[in-house]
Amino acid sequence: MPETYFASGQCLCGDVKYTISSPPVRMGQCHCDDCRRSSGTGHASNAFFKKNDVQIKGKTSLYDSNTDTGSIITRHFCPKCGSRLFGENSAATEIIGVTAGTLNDSHWFKANVIVYNKRKPKWDIMDDSIPTFDEMPPL
Ligand SMILES: [Zn+2]
Ligand SMILES: [Zn+2]
Repeated sequence: MPETYFASGQCLCGDVKYTISSPPVRMGQCHCDDCRRSSGTGHASNAFFKKNDVQIKGKTSLYDSNTDTGSIITRHFCPKCGSRLFGENSAATEIIGVTAGTLNDSHWFKANVIVYNKRKPKWDIMDDSIPTFDEMPPL
């Protein structure tokens, strides 16, 4: 019997691949300086899953940075092609963020929150109907 997954994805070169067994617990877009720089565009679009639901094949490189709220975000990227794949927050160790752009099929993705809107560049046009916060709202 073929295995079925909720979603799958990979980096640009294909050295890192992943499968996800269950739907996300939350989906969001972040305009903070760190997300803008690491994504190279106006925001990061992330779907957050329980870590146990995400199976990763291949090795990622890691980069740690501090957040405003005192936690550490560890961003994972492919050491060969540089694609940004995953993010982990030291304040929520059972959760992993997956960058929506690396999914093979992301038709189901719909951000239910936009954070750090005060850092949003004017040219990054967002859907007005999504709840928007100037900084990080309390979870
Ligand atoms: Zn790669
Ligand atoms: Zn951010």
